[in-house]
Amino acid sequence: MPVNKAQYEKILRELEGKATLVAVSKTKTVEDIMELYDLGQRDFGENYVQEIVEKYEALPKDIRWHFIGHLQSNKVKYIAPFIHLIHGIDSEKLLSTVEKEAVKNTRVIDVLLQVFISKDETKFGFDKKELESLFSSPAFASFKSVKVRGLMGLATFTEDNDLIREEFRDLRNIYDEVGKKEIPHTTMEILSMGMSADYQFALEYNTNMVRIGSLLFGARN
Ligand SMILES: *Cc1c(COP(=O)(O)O)cnc(C)c1O
Repeated sequence: MPVNKAQYEKILRELEGKATLVAVSKTKTVEDIMELYDLGQRDFGENYVQEIVEKYEALPKDIRWHFIGHLQSNKVKYIAPFIHLIHGIDSEKLLSTVEKEAVKNTRVIDVLLQVFISKDETKFGFDKKELESLFSSPAFASFKSVKVRGLMGLATFTEDNDLIREEFRDLRNIYDEVGKKEIPHTTMEILSMGMSADYQFALEYNTNMVRIGSLLFGARN
């Protein structure tokens, strides 16, 4: 299916340069990705390790690859050499694996911590208390090669727009609170919230990174 160019341009206008668009290309072909690449898009997001590695190998090397799915510790090694940003860090164990792989690859890996804001129990992430205990843990303080650059969250999948707004507002508040604290190798620069169905609400709460797939590439099977 061809990329929706009009929709791409509309979204870029709506973001007004205030939010980075991560084009979510999971399940889409390298040809689809190249169509958007040729329009100037450089940030692409993927959910599956094998798929992101294959696409990384096949596509131009100036693409910034974002891992946005649920990442298993034993798979970090495959993406560590090239990943631009890992959005879904949801445990200290996973973070310490990223630290180890970053050291092995002699690079710094930027990550976002996933915060649980929704009513969907199937979703992942830290709650506020868990974030605090992570930030005060000695293991966390000892990390050298991971940098926490912000937070990521997924709103409930619902028609209830007020609930979505409430969840994005909560995440925005946590982001602002964390940003005021002095935490080792942690800065609040990136707030990754909003996807095809709800990025308009995320913009109301000043998201600065949206992850959009189906509006650009059409529905996934
Ligand atoms: C698939 C996915 C998206 C994009 O979803 P669309 O509804 O196609 O825009 C965004 N974020 C995450 C974490 C995803 O898994």
